[in-house]
Amino acid sequence: MPSVYIKTYGCQMNERDSEQVLQQLAAKGYELALTESSADVILLNTCSVRDMAEQTALNKMKHLQGMKKKNPNLVLGFLGCMAQSQGQSLVDSLPDVDLVVGTQKFHQVADYVDQLITNKSESIVDIAEENSSQNTIRDHVLKPKQVTAFVSIMQGCNMHCTFCIVPFTRGSERSRPIAEITQEVKILAANGVKEVTLLGQIVNLYGRHEFPKIDGKSPFVQLLESVAAVPGIQRVRFTSPHPIGYRTDLIHAFKNIPELCEHVHLPLQSGSNRILKAMHRSYTRERYLKLVEEIRKVNPTVGLTTDVIVGFPGETEEDFQQTKSLMKEVGFDQAFIFRYSPRKETPAAEMGDQHTEETKLRWNQELLEVLNSGVKERSQSMVGQEIEILIEGESKYSDERFEGRTRTNKLVLIEANERWRGEILKVKITESTGFTLYAEPVIQL
Ligand code: SF4
Repeated sequence: MPSVYIKTYGCQMNERDSEQVLQQLAAKGYELALTESSADVILLNTCSVRDMAEQTALNKMKHLQGMKKKNPNLVLGFLGCMAQSQGQSLVDSLPDVDLVVGTQKFHQVADYVDQLITNKSESIVDIAEENSSQNTIRDHVLKPKQVTAFVSIMQGCNMHCTFCIVPFTRGSERSRPIAEITQEVKILAANGVKEVTLLGQIVNLYGRHEFPKIDGKSPFVQLLESVAAVPGIQRVRFTSPHPIGYRTDLIHAFKNIPELCEHVHLPLQSGSNRILKAMHRSYTRERYLKLVEEIRKVNPTVGLTTDVIVGFPGETEEDFQQTKSLMKEVGFDQAFIFRYSPRKETPAAEMGDQHTEETKLRWNQELLEVLNSGVKERSQSMVGQEIEILIEGESKYSDERFEGRTRTNKLVLIEANERWRGEILKVKITESTGFTLYAEPVIQL
């Protein structure tokens, strides 16, 4: 059978979508190629959040077209967000591309690849919307001893933040039923998975259009309870949320659901009320800080992470200083700082006062310094502590070490030992380099 290679750009949702496509191709008998040079089919699952991500995928495809000159049977395709937003124009500008499949049609990819291989058909472009497409991302390709997995619980977003292309590429919010998601988690647990991360573009507003509140609990909290109750599941996480989705029931879930890990991602974007309004973010600096206080009151040890955009159109030095002061005040454990990148068809791209790269870089650097010094101090204070980690496997940074995560989502490296793979292990922190902690097991198994 032909072999397939998928290169995935962007977020965890894209990783999850690629896994679904691979599962369906494998079910048809396709082999999974380890490198693109050995593949008969190469698919790029794309990201549109930043211009650079799109340019990277386009350049990659130009390079692959060169491979196709030598091997005319090679099948090339674009999947995902950029496929959705650019559609037919990708084939028009890159004529060796055979397949363009948008974000609601991942489940069709295997059939389309079949058609292209068996019939040598003309290029296929499918970016149509499809009712219930959110229910099609549900199968997994698990590696031996894999203990963590992503579970896609919804698609799309209705928030229309003025900088964000996601509502255009992923469509409006559509959620999967709780029973189906729980069934998927049961299968994962039966195959050895201990930790699941629930995925959605606005994950903590899951089900708000489809399912009722029960006993004052939102559909998302009902889902968390259902998934956490699956035998074998020891840790539950979720990403990516919106601050307005952290209502009282969810905040209290961090105390009431033992399996829910003490990690709260709280995308800030800006610390200036004027810029938050221009971004169409429906909270204020004051509300955000109050939320942090409420979360820390329920669980003082919670790990707090965030996303920030610098260089939004019209952002002044004073606005930026407000973001900086908020970051200092909160003391995040991690922050993903993005330089604003105009995305076509979004309101912010049309706004005046766009910033130069130089300003964005300077502000980016200043926030990184605030982040790094706070993280360094807090991590250093963890040295000597005993803490529980889930060992996921080989470290990306060292052959001699395994890596795991604390419940608060901190990365911990320990000496590699097969006995510990996939185990929840109590370790003692021995050293810190800021974002990475080093540890040794407290009890040798
Ligand atoms: S809530 Fe998130 S995904 Fe939705 S529009 Fe805003 S930034 Fe984009």
